[in-house]
Amino acid sequence: MSTEIGVHLPCGQCQKQVRGRVAVLINFEKSPEWEARLLADDLNRLTCGCGFRMTYMRTVGTVDFARKTCAYGYPSSLEVYWQDLGLAVEAAFRRNWVVGAPPVVRATASEWRVRAVMGYEGLREQRVISLAGLDDVQVETTKLHLLAGRPEWAGARVWLRAVSADRLLFRVDTLDVSQRAAADVPREWLSLPAPDHVLPGALDADPFVSFRKLWIRPKPVPPDLVRLDGRWEVYTTQVDQREPVIRF
Ligand SMILES: [Zn+2]
Repeated sequence: MSTEIGVHLPCGQCQKQVRGRVAVLINFEKSPEWEARLLADDLNRLTCGCGFRMTYMRTVGTVDFARKTCAYGYPSSLEVYWQDLGLAVEAAFRRNWVVGAPPVVRATASEWRVRAVMGYEGLREQRVISLAGLDDVQVETTKLHLLAGRPEWAGARVWLRAVSADRLLFRVDTLDVSQRAAADVPREWLSLPAPDHVLPGALDADPFVSFRKLWIRPKPVPPDLVRLDGRWEVYTTQVDQREPVIRF
Protein backbone atom coordinates (compact mmCIF):
# COMPACT_ATOMS: atom_id res chain seq x y z
CA MET A 1 0.00 0.00 0.00
CA SER A 2 0.93 3.61 -0.43
CA THR A 3 0.43 6.15 2.32
CA GLU A 4 -1.23 9.49 1.78
CA ILE A 5 -2.38 12.24 4.11
CA GLY A 6 -4.92 15.05 3.96
CA VAL A 7 -3.44 18.55 3.95
CA HIS A 8 -4.64 22.12 3.73
CA LEU A 9 -2.70 25.24 2.94
CA PRO A 10 -3.47 28.81 1.96
CA CYS A 11 -3.66 29.62 -1.73
CA GLY A 12 -0.72 31.76 -2.86
CA GLN A 13 -3.06 33.90 -4.92
CA CYS A 14 -6.41 34.32 -3.14
CA GLN A 15 -5.42 33.08 0.37
CA LYS A 16 -8.36 30.67 0.60
CA GLN A 17 -7.65 27.33 2.24
CA VAL A 18 -6.97 24.62 -0.31
CA ARG A 19 -7.49 21.03 0.77
CA GLY A 20 -6.23 17.87 -0.82
CA ARG A 21 -4.44 14.59 -0.34
CA VAL A 22 -0.71 14.13 -0.83
CA ALA A 23 1.49 11.07 -1.06
CA VAL A 24 3.92 10.33 1.76
CA LEU A 25 5.04 6.87 0.73
CA ILE A 26 4.51 5.47 -2.74
CA ASN A 27 4.57 1.76 -3.46
CA PHE A 28 4.89 1.86 -7.23
CA GLU A 29 3.55 -1.65 -7.77
CA LYS A 30 0.38 -0.91 -5.81
CA SER A 31 -0.19 2.69 -6.86
CA PRO A 32 0.10 3.28 -10.59
CA GLU A 33 -1.87 6.50 -10.16
CA TRP A 34 0.80 8.02 -7.92
CA GLU A 35 3.50 6.84 -10.30
CA ALA A 36 1.66 8.50 -13.19
CA ARG A 37 1.41 11.75 -11.27
CA LEU A 38 5.12 11.66 -10.42
CA LEU A 39 6.06 11.09 -14.07
CA ALA A 40 3.67 13.84 -15.19
CA ASP A 41 5.27 16.39 -12.79
CA ASP A 42 1.97 16.44 -10.94
CA LEU A 43 2.98 14.85 -7.65
CA ASN A 44 1.37 16.47 -4.62
CA ARG A 45 0.12 19.42 -6.63
CA LEU A 46 -3.04 21.13 -5.45
CA THR A 47 -5.23 23.45 -7.46
CA CYS A 48 -7.26 26.21 -5.83
CA GLY A 49 -10.75 27.06 -7.04
CA CYS A 50 -9.25 30.29 -8.39
CA GLY A 51 -7.00 28.26 -10.68
CA PHE A 52 -3.73 28.79 -8.79
CA ARG A 53 -1.57 25.65 -8.65
CA MET A 54 0.76 24.80 -5.81
CA THR A 55 3.16 21.98 -5.06
CA TYR A 56 3.07 20.61 -1.55
CA MET A 57 6.72 19.85 -0.88
CA ARG A 58 7.61 17.30 1.74
CA THR A 59 9.69 14.21 2.16
CA VAL A 60 8.24 11.39 0.07
CA GLY A 61 9.45 7.80 0.11
CA THR A 62 9.13 5.41 -2.81
CA VAL A 63 9.56 1.66 -2.98
CA ASP A 64 9.38 -0.99 -5.66
CA PHE A 65 9.81 -4.55 -4.39
CA ALA A 66 10.09 -6.09 -7.85
CA ARG A 67 12.82 -3.75 -9.01
CA LYS A 68 14.38 -3.60 -5.53
CA THR A 69 14.53 0.17 -5.42
CA CYS A 70 13.85 2.51 -2.55
CA ALA A 71 14.28 6.29 -2.77
CA TYR A 72 13.44 9.13 -0.44
CA GLY A 73 13.00 12.56 -1.93
CA TYR A 74 13.73 15.52 0.34
CA PRO A 75 12.94 19.19 -0.27
CA SER A 76 15.79 20.58 -2.37
CA SER A 77 16.49 23.27 0.22
CA LEU A 78 17.97 20.51 2.41
CA GLU A 79 20.57 19.44 -0.13
CA VAL A 80 23.44 20.78 1.97
CA TYR A 81 22.60 18.05 4.53
CA TRP A 82 22.99 15.34 1.91
CA GLN A 83 25.35 13.19 3.96
CA ASP A 84 23.05 12.97 6.97
CA LEU A 85 20.04 12.52 4.70
CA GLY A 86 21.81 9.56 3.12
CA LEU A 87 22.34 8.01 6.54
CA ALA A 88 18.68 8.65 7.36
CA VAL A 89 17.59 6.90 4.18
CA GLU A 90 19.71 3.86 5.01
CA ALA A 91 18.18 3.80 8.49
CA ALA A 92 14.65 4.19 7.12
CA PHE A 93 15.24 1.41 4.62
CA ARG A 94 16.48 -0.94 7.33
CA ARG A 95 13.65 -0.01 9.69
CA ASN A 96 10.82 -0.13 7.19
CA TRP A 97 11.88 -2.69 4.64
CA VAL A 98 14.41 -4.98 6.28
CA VAL A 99 13.80 -5.45 10.00
CA GLY A 100 10.04 -5.80 9.71
CA ALA A 101 10.00 -7.26 6.23
CA PRO A 102 9.23 -10.81 5.14
CA PRO A 103 12.32 -13.07 5.02
CA VAL A 104 12.37 -12.98 1.22
CA VAL A 105 12.87 -9.21 1.32
CA ARG A 106 15.41 -9.34 4.12
CA ALA A 107 17.41 -11.94 2.20
CA THR A 108 17.79 -9.57 -0.75
CA ALA A 109 18.39 -6.34 1.20
CA SER A 110 21.93 -6.00 -0.11
CA GLU A 111 20.67 -6.05 -3.71
CA TRP A 112 18.46 -2.99 -3.32
CA ARG A 113 19.21 0.39 -4.79
CA VAL A 114 18.62 2.74 -1.85
CA ARG A 115 18.81 6.44 -2.66
CA ALA A 116 18.41 9.89 -1.18
CA VAL A 117 17.37 12.42 -3.81
CA MET A 118 16.35 16.06 -3.89
CA GLY A 119 12.80 17.07 -4.59
CA TYR A 120 10.13 15.44 -6.67
CA GLU A 121 12.40 15.98 -9.67
CA GLY A 122 14.90 13.66 -8.03
CA LEU A 123 12.24 11.05 -7.32
CA ARG A 124 10.99 11.31 -10.87
CA GLU A 125 14.50 10.90 -12.23
CA GLN A 126 15.12 7.81 -10.11
CA ARG A 127 11.92 6.31 -11.51
CA VAL A 128 12.91 7.11 -15.09
CA ILE A 129 16.32 5.51 -14.47
CA SER A 130 14.75 2.46 -12.88
CA LEU A 131 12.17 1.94 -15.65
CA ALA A 132 14.88 2.30 -18.30
CA GLY A 133 17.15 -0.14 -16.48
CA LEU A 134 20.02 2.35 -16.28
CA ASP A 135 22.81 2.70 -13.74
CA ASP A 136 22.39 5.99 -11.91
CA VAL A 137 26.14 6.37 -11.39
CA GLN A 138 26.57 6.41 -15.17
CA VAL A 139 23.77 8.94 -15.44
CA GLU A 140 25.58 11.25 -13.00
CA THR A 141 28.84 10.76 -14.90
CA THR A 142 27.04 11.75 -18.09
CA LYS A 143 25.87 14.96 -16.40
CA LEU A 144 29.48 15.83 -15.59
CA HIS A 145 30.35 15.51 -19.28
CA LEU A 146 27.35 17.62 -20.16
CA LEU A 147 28.40 20.43 -17.82
CA ALA A 148 32.11 20.34 -18.73
CA GLY A 149 33.24 23.49 -20.52
CA ARG A 150 29.93 25.28 -20.00
CA PRO A 151 30.44 27.92 -17.32
CA GLU A 152 26.94 29.28 -17.97
CA TRP A 153 25.63 26.07 -16.40
CA ALA A 154 27.79 26.30 -13.26
CA GLY A 155 25.81 25.40 -10.15
CA ALA A 156 23.02 23.83 -12.17
CA ARG A 157 20.84 20.95 -11.14
CA VAL A 158 20.55 18.48 -14.00
CA TRP A 159 17.72 15.97 -14.35
CA LEU A 160 17.35 13.02 -16.67
CA ARG A 161 13.85 13.47 -18.03
CA ALA A 162 13.43 10.82 -20.72
CA VAL A 163 15.26 7.90 -22.30
CA SER A 164 14.84 6.53 -25.81
CA ALA A 165 16.66 3.80 -27.69
CA ASP A 166 19.47 6.13 -28.71
CA ARG A 167 18.99 9.46 -26.90
CA LEU A 168 18.88 10.86 -23.37
CA LEU A 169 16.94 14.02 -22.62
CA PHE A 170 18.14 16.10 -19.67
CA ARG A 171 16.87 19.35 -18.21
CA VAL A 172 19.45 21.81 -16.91
CA ASP A 173 18.11 24.00 -14.11
CA THR A 174 20.59 26.84 -13.74
CA LEU A 175 20.58 29.47 -11.02
CA ASP A 176 20.18 32.05 -13.77
CA VAL A 177 16.75 31.21 -15.16
CA SER A 178 17.58 32.71 -18.56
CA GLN A 179 20.26 30.02 -19.06
CA ARG A 180 17.96 27.07 -18.42
CA ALA A 181 17.86 24.52 -21.19
CA ALA A 182 17.05 20.98 -22.17
CA ALA A 183 19.92 18.87 -23.45
CA ASP A 184 19.42 16.02 -25.90
CA VAL A 185 22.51 13.78 -25.91
CA PRO A 186 23.46 10.44 -27.46
CA ARG A 187 22.84 7.47 -25.22
CA GLU A 188 26.43 6.32 -25.79
CA TRP A 189 27.50 9.05 -23.39
CA LEU A 190 26.46 6.66 -20.63
CA SER A 191 29.57 4.61 -21.29
CA LEU A 192 32.02 7.51 -21.11
CA PRO A 193 34.48 7.10 -18.23
CA ALA A 194 34.22 9.49 -15.30
CA PRO A 195 36.36 12.65 -15.56
CA ASP A 196 39.78 12.41 -13.92
CA HIS A 197 38.81 14.58 -10.96
CA VAL A 198 36.16 12.09 -9.82
CA LEU A 199 37.68 9.43 -7.60
CA PRO A 200 36.47 5.88 -8.29
CA GLY A 201 33.50 5.06 -6.07
CA ALA A 202 32.98 8.68 -5.04
CA LEU A 203 29.54 9.03 -6.60
CA ASP A 204 27.93 5.99 -5.01
CA ALA A 205 29.79 5.88 -1.71
CA ASP A 206 26.47 6.72 0.00
CA PRO A 207 22.77 6.94 -0.98
CA PHE A 208 23.07 10.50 -2.37
CA VAL A 209 24.29 9.53 -5.82
CA SER A 210 24.65 12.96 -7.35
CA PHE A 211 27.44 14.83 -9.10
CA ARG A 212 26.52 17.80 -6.92
CA LYS A 213 28.14 16.31 -3.85
CA LEU A 214 31.50 16.85 -5.51
CA TRP A 215 30.92 20.56 -4.89
CA ILE A 216 28.61 20.75 -1.89
CA ARG A 217 30.43 20.22 1.38
CA PRO A 218 27.87 18.53 3.65
CA LYS A 219 26.66 20.18 6.83
CA PRO A 220 25.22 18.24 9.78
CA VAL A 221 21.43 18.30 10.04
CA PRO A 222 20.32 20.70 12.81
CA PRO A 223 18.79 18.78 15.76
CA ASP A 224 15.34 20.27 15.25
CA LEU A 225 15.25 18.92 11.71
CA VAL A 226 16.12 15.32 12.43
CA ARG A 227 12.65 13.86 12.08
CA LEU A 228 13.62 12.45 8.76
CA ASP A 229 10.57 10.35 8.03
CA GLY A 230 9.27 13.57 6.65
CA ARG A 231 7.18 15.08 9.39
CA TRP A 232 8.50 18.52 8.56
CA GLU A 233 7.04 20.10 5.51
CA VAL A 234 7.26 23.12 3.31
CA TYR A 235 5.30 24.14 0.30
CA THR A 236 6.12 26.26 -2.67
CA THR A 237 4.49 27.43 -5.80
CA GLN A 238 5.73 25.86 -8.98
CA VAL A 239 6.15 27.66 -12.25
CA ASP A 240 5.57 25.79 -15.47
CA GLN A 241 8.31 26.50 -17.96
CA ARG A 242 9.69 25.44 -21.30
CA GLU A 243 13.37 25.47 -22.11
CA PRO A 244 15.19 25.60 -25.44
CA VAL A 245 16.54 22.17 -26.44
CA ILE A 246 20.25 21.95 -27.20
CA ARG A 247 21.20 18.89 -29.22
CA PHE A 248 24.63 17.33 -28.74
ZN1 LIG B 1 -6.87 30.64 -4.82
